Amino acid sequence: MKDELIKLLGNAYAPYSKFHVSAIVETKDGKFIPGVNVENASYGATICAERNAITTAVSMGYKKGDFKNIYIMVSGEKLSMPCFMCRQVIVEFFDKDSEIILMGKNGEVDRYKVSEICPYPFDETDL
Ligand SMILES: [Zn+2]
Repeated sequence: MKDELIKLLGNAYAPYSKFHVSAIVETKDGKFIPGVNVENASYGATICAERNAITTAVSMGYKKGDFKNIYIMVSGEKLSMPCFMCRQVIVEFFDKDSEIILMGKNGEVDRYKVSEICPYPFDETDL
């Protein structure tokens, strides 16, 4: 997965931050769906790699409960956690025991369960 994430980093559109991010959603039926961050001169129109991969999977027909894990790599030297907007979207589609797997270009790996990084989610039970 590391090599795929490194290659995908090259597709990120980040002319403002220069901070490239790649993400790959693994579905329960064994598909791997990519996403990269896509920035915009109007910064608020930027989409993160994680949400790009998740919404691409949804566009392909995947539903809540079809998502297994998500792999994430950043162009910086240290591993980075998903932002809280992405955590909210991860909570929407992934199971509580799904894994967020942070990978570094030099082989570092950190793994977290959704329940660890989103212990008190806002979800359908709050509506
Ligand atoms: Zn994000």
